[in-house]
Amino acid sequence: MKKIREVKVSKITKLSANFKIVTFTGDDLNDFPTLKNGGYIKLLFSEKPLDLNYQFVRPFTIKNFSREKLELEILFTNLQSSSGLASKWSQKIKINDKILISGPGSNKSLSLLSKWYLFIGDFTALAAISVYLKNLDEKSRGLAIIEIKSKKDKIELEKPVNFEIKWVLSSKVNNFSQYKNKLQNITWLSHQPSVWAACEFELMKKLRNFLIKDKKILKENIYISSYWKKGLDQEEHKIIKKKDFQKWES
Ligand SMILES: Cc1cc2nc3c(=O)[nH]c(=O)nc-3n(C[C@H](O)[C@H](O)[C@H](O)COP(=O)(O)OP(=O)(O)OC[C@H]3O[C@@H](n4cnc5c(N)ncnc54)[C@H](O)[C@@H]3O)c2cc1C
Repeated sequence: MKKIREVKVSKITKLSANFKIVTFTGDDLNDFPTLKNGGYIKLLFSEKPLDLNYQFVRPFTIKNFSREKLELEILFTNLQSSSGLASKWSQKIKINDKILISGPGSNKSLSLLSKWYLFIGDFTALAAISVYLKNLDEKSRGLAIIEIKSKKDKIELEKPVNFEIKWVLSSKVNNFSQYKNKLQNITWLSHQPSVWAACEFELMKKLRNFLIKDKKILKENIYISSYWKKGLDQEEHKIIKKKDFQKWES
């Protein structure tokens, strides 16, 4: 079982209209493992604070971890419309607030063979994409398509020089067609890219279909995952995600 650690909020940095970085610290981070490409932790929630018999877990990407400073950074999206535990908690967050976390779990490593990468993700995947871009070989090339809620969320990302970032603005009508437009308007090289994608469940299924059927990308060159599902909480989402994954793998 993954170790449970108590951490407290030491810094809150507003990055843009809908993103903020929350820095957690605490002695429990002394032996926190450093993973390639960051990985993720789970915030643990219960009816009472710091309850080891927690009932709810919410995964969040590790944007940065410094062993020297014992600092762990998480990028939170502002989900004002959500009544979810993590959303409500992160909106009210203040310095010295404490929470239990478990993890880290590791993020999927990308095949480094192609040196041509395609990252696709909504606002919940921005942290993961930013960590991958930062860690890629400087000679790598590719494209990241990232969905944001407002033009004001276009933040500067550390990336290899030959990497392009395309922003998609969230739409209530059809997010998929926006991603599809961006994907259709890029220059596809003769060899296959390594694809990494994460977003809302229904969008993930449409993107997966498009990448495989229309773009003929081989399954082994694609890592695609849903990070949440409209209308379902994370416990409910996890169940359908698992079923979908088993079908996709079979
Ligand atoms: C591996 C992994 C890494 C992740 N990393 C990050 C990260 O770095 N930053 C980040 O912000 N999120 C991240 N997420 C997504 C995050 O875990 C979910 O958004 C989480 O469910 C929110 O919890 P909640 O308690 O607020 O809402 P829940 O209780 O899970 O859901 C309550 C309601 O809110 C809705 N909801 C949940 N998430 C969203 C959303 N993103 N947008 C709109 N409505 C939503 C649900 O559909 C439901 O109706 C990650 C998910 C995974 C699986």
